[in-house]
Amino acid sequence: AKVTRMGPSPTGFMHLGNLYGALVDERLAHQSKGVFYLRIEDTDRKREVEGGVQMIIDAFQSFGLPFDEGATTDGETGIYGPYRQSQRAEIYQTFVKSLVERGMAYPCFCTEEELAEAHRQQEENKENFGYYGKYAVWRDRPMEDIEAELAKGTPYVVRFRSEGSIEHKIRHEDLVKGKMEVTENDQDVVILKSDGIPTYHFAHVVDDHLMGTTIVVRGEEWLATLPVHLQLFRAMGWKAPKYAHTAQLMKIDPETGGKRKLSKRKDPELALTFYAQEGYPVPAVLEYLMTLLNSNFEEWRRANPDLPMNDFPFTTKKMSGSGALFDIEKLRDVSKNVISRMTAEQVYDYVAEWSAVNDKEFNALLTRDPAFSKAYLAIGRGGKKPRKDLALWSDAKGYMDFMFDELFRPDYTMPERVSAEDAKAILADFAGMFDENDTPDGFFDKMKQIASAHGYAADTKAYKADPSAFKGAVGDVSMVVRVAVAGRQNAPDLQTVMGILGREKVLDRLEKCSA
Ligand code: GLU
Repeated sequence: AKVTRMGPSPTGFMHLGNLYGALVDERLAHQSKGVFYLRIEDTDRKREVEGGVQMIIDAFQSFGLPFDEGATTDGETGIYGPYRQSQRAEIYQTFVKSLVERGMAYPCFCTEEELAEAHRQQEENKENFGYYGKYAVWRDRPMEDIEAELAKGTPYVVRFRSEGSIEHKIRHEDLVKGKMEVTENDQDVVILKSDGIPTYHFAHVVDDHLMGTTIVVRGEEWLATLPVHLQLFRAMGWKAPKYAHTAQLMKIDPETGGKRKLSKRKDPELALTFYAQEGYPVPAVLEYLMTLLNSNFEEWRRANPDLPMNDFPFTTKKMSGSGALFDIEKLRDVSKNVISRMTAEQVYDYVAEWSAVNDKEFNALLTRDPAFSKAYLAIGRGGKKPRKDLALWSDAKGYMDFMFDELFRPDYTMPERVSAEDAKAILADFAGMFDENDTPDGFFDKMKQIASAHGYAADTKAYKADPSAFKGAVGDVSMVVRVAVAGRQNAPDLQTVMGILGREKVLDRLEKCSA
């Protein structure tokens, strides 16, 4: 069984990359009947927002990725806590102390100015930046010097004493990036800041060890400091977890046409809150991310259109090591497919839920007569080629509006080949023949009759063979009826629509259009 975790900061902003990683974590844990837990990385109090933990939990819960253990809104579950880094200061400090005692870490009293000066010299000498070699001025200082500074109360950080050299390479086998060689770390990195708070490097090592994480899934930006982490695990005498460094989500910049990272400022789709607001179905977002994660998912989905996504045998082996390209248009396509596989009941429930929050006016109409709304949403569902009219829950209003008198704003543009006079005659004929219990075929027979009576071909082929012999074809005639009833030229199966609207409303609309 695998143990994975998310380590977000409660800053109120959860982004697509978090969800992308969480999906990997969740699948790895749950596919192996393991544990997926939440650790709150709240060491930066300035960036924290109120209710931040709740927002994190809600975000992942709403995407169907609930945590098994770890921090909860007002406490925690699990035996490896505390799961909030802000409550673990003593734990980190104890381990730092043991490293210092063993000579593997030491206090450093360098001021900002001294560090800046070293940096300047390194730049001048074209050397690597950082605290190492002759620049590591507190590394081997006599105890008296250290005690003197401590006595003065000079602020200090604690640095790890690196025994590494950039001449050495270490082998790493990443679950996503595969086998690689990385340069050993020769820097004496800070493990404890002057306020007694650990750096990410140290907190990661301590927490993931103590909390039993077996796979660390994190962004590839951490690959650069992996050698530090491996070194720290060794110094502590602990076995390092496996790592899966996930590639960045990229997009094509609409202006430049080039690939770039998603940006908080330019791309609203980066924020997870965007998807709920816009009405993207949760399963569609997850399926699309899975498509980006595993190259064989699409093929599996085509072969298994009705299986739950969690039946897909997810594996890090199929993950691409290079940046995944996020394309919101593709997400919309996935979404159309996902919605087309749902039952009318499911679509209704989702649209009702979405509109209750985001469009109350529409919600009132939708839920006024649930059977009426569901009957309409059921049109064209099931079968081999289901309709794909909806990509977002917010599309439902535009798809259904003409069914509600309150939203009916007809555009009576008739097909080109039909004169205004003919349109009136066609509608009058149809009003006399309309039967709400007709089948779609029965309706079409009536259209053929009306077509013949007014000089339109009852048979489209006949029209195509000799267009000059007719004013138009049966399709033009049924379009007239569609325009009158639906107030637009595209709408799902007309006879079914009319059956749902009912006799009175249909006759009323035929008349209104002729008036
Ligand atoms: N708090 C870290 C981040 O947000 C977590 C990285 C990790 O998962 O180790 O980047």
